Amino acid sequence: MSFDELGLSAEVLRAIAEAGYTTPTPIQAKAIPVALSGRDLIGIAQTGTGKTAGFTLPMIEKLAAGRAKARMPRSLVLEPTRELAAQVAESFEKYGRYHKLSMALLIGGVSFGDQDAKIDRGVDVLIATPGRLLDHFERGKLLLNGVQKLVIDEADRMLDMGFIPDIERICKLLPPTRQTLFFSATMPPEIKRLTEQFLRNPERIEVSKPATAATTIEQKVVGIPGHDPKLKREALRRVIRGQNVVNAIIFCNRKRDVDIVYKSLSKHGFSVGVLHGDLPQPVRMKTLEGFRNGDVQLMVASDVAARGLDLPQVSHVFNYDVPIHADDYVHRIGRTGRAGRAGHAFMLAAPSDHKWLSAIEKLIGKAIEREEMEGLEGISSGEREHGHGRDRDRRGRGRSRDRRSHDKQRAEVNDQPPALAELSAPTSADDAPRESKPRRHEKPKQEHHAKAQQKPKKEPRKPDADPKGDRMIGMGDHTPAFLLKPVPQHLLRKKKKVTEAA
Ligand code: AMP
Repeated sequence: MSFDELGLSAEVLRAIAEAGYTTPTPIQAKAIPVALSGRDLIGIAQTGTGKTAGFTLPMIEKLAAGRAKARMPRSLVLEPTRELAAQVAESFEKYGRYHKLSMALLIGGVSFGDQDAKIDRGVDVLIATPGRLLDHFERGKLLLNGVQKLVIDEADRMLDMGFIPDIERICKLLPPTRQTLFFSATMPPEIKRLTEQFLRNPERIEVSKPATAATTIEQKVVGIPGHDPKLKREALRRVIRGQNVVNAIIFCNRKRDVDIVYKSLSKHGFSVGVLHGDLPQPVRMKTLEGFRNGDVQLMVASDVAARGLDLPQVSHVFNYDVPIHADDYVHRIGRTGRAGRAGHAFMLAAPSDHKWLSAIEKLIGKAIEREEMEGLEGISSGEREHGHGRDRDRRGRGRSRDRRSHDKQRAEVNDQPPALAELSAPTSADDAPRESKPRRHEKPKQEHHAKAQQKPKKEPRKPDADPKGDRMIGMGDHTPAFLLKPVPQHLLRKKKKVTEAA
């Protein structure tokens, strides 16, 4: 099939040809005619499938006729992160170059004044993260009752990030007669419910996932003896040095580790950039630009910050941590080995990562080749980077402390939502979800916690645990029995709410 057969105008076809595309991707071939027909659409597709052009091209076409009124955008595209929003804006610019559509990008980290001025002039396309959009709306600067076309992109990521209540609120502010184009890589029940509530007789289109763990990717698990941070960083350096790396992304599960690994690699002379949600927008943009143009060879990133970004082909992906969610592994390594080219994916794993590793292997349907890294045993966190650590601690207490910190990290992953915000938070506080009410639509194992995302830096202290053991402190020798009982799930949920309020 060619683009000519999709019902697009000569101007749009010209812009597509200039972008260098000759054949529509499967999602484009299916979605464009539906979107042009005015019907609602559910597109089940991941990033990398070409879905952005799948909704941008028909929108440009449909918006070509008509004029925007002041403060009343004619269409709205909701994206979970600033980077994705910025990327969609670039697509509108690229494909809409022969149209005179006006566009505004409402994302955190940019002054309200400039954004207000654009909205005041009237925009055809408004691209926004949900939090920023509601901010503008609440300030009375924006009217949403002129929106004829709504795109909800990366809906499952919105769910992960706690944005669903915001999305529901926004949908209720829009005219019911609008057209809605809805994209999600997966359709968990909460997302399905959302589509049932807000879409009218949608056409459902599904494209297969981009080759799960493409056969061109060499995958390896590098066995390390434990989770000692120093040991892990040393292991990472050795793996990188042992490879012919053109450019690589290094994924960590937590933003804090993204920072640490970045600083450590810089100190060891690597050409490295950093990307996670707590960084100021200009820093993130600079990192991305440097990585795209080859000035920066390595980029240390968190899953959310890197998700969906249109990055160049990378020769290597290094998983500093085994991802807690198996599908994140597929997303991560999908950054390499694209379009039939060779790619390499390495993952550091300690014996205690076994459970997560098994889940990944189950998902990808094969065992990943193991490679043991020898000679790491002498390294422990007791040593400092420059060798002035407390030697006494090196092999004994230092390591068990690390073990504890790893266990604590795992406990946080499973039990402590506030700390989980670090695993994958919205890209800034202003892009964070707007309310702290319990979210009916969130998964029970929800890893993203709205309030925690707004205050992601502090981890909750566990005041009732003795750092040296499990003995309660502040109770004398007696621990009341009720404190030792497991907390029922429904109370836990309330407890989370209290934590949020605090
Ligand atoms: P997306 O899934 O929308 O993020 O797109 C992924 C990448 O595919 C982007 O780099 C697009 O520029 C590129 N792309 C989109 N449509 C096509 C196409 N028809 N042919 C080739 N590349 C495309």
